[in-house]
Amino acid sequence: MTQVEAGLAAIAPSERVLVLSHCLRPSQSCPGKFGKSGLDCPESCSENCFIGRVRQMALKAGYKGVCIAAGGAMALRFVKDHHARGIVAVACDKELLAGIDGVKNLSGGAGNMPPIVIIPLLKDGCVDTEVDEERVFQALSLGSRV
Ligand code: SF4
Repeated sequence: MTQVEAGLAAIAPSERVLVLSHCLRPSQSCPGKFGKSGLDCPESCSENCFIGRVRQMALKAGYKGVCIAAGGAMALRFVKDHHARGIVAVACDKELLAGIDGVKNLSGGAGNMPPIVIIPLLKDGCVDTEVDEERVFQALSLGSRV
């Protein structure tokens, strides 16, 4: 386990958030609409998509919130509004680096930052992107019984 993973495992799931990039949704069939806090997945959605699966897992594990963000600014606002003490983030390298900088600034420096377990995309390109789902499940379940 890495140091940052151990840091996340020590934070209760109820103090953590999951941040996903919206580009992971199935672009041709996703019925979700964007709101102020990101993509809203309607309860009636019957797609068996990655976002739906990990969102359900995070909520079942007791995560404070899940943000399917349209960009770094939206993700950062979500982290701030939810006073997240731990973060699991899935996005492209560019967004992840910008997000880490943003969280660092928000926290007043690297020493005060909440642990961020980051999982980069396997296939990027802004539409219908892919990630190692098992890695995301493992990150979500750090220190939790789910
Ligand atoms: S679960 Fe959410 S992201 Fe996936 S297809 Fe449904 S609305 Fe879109």
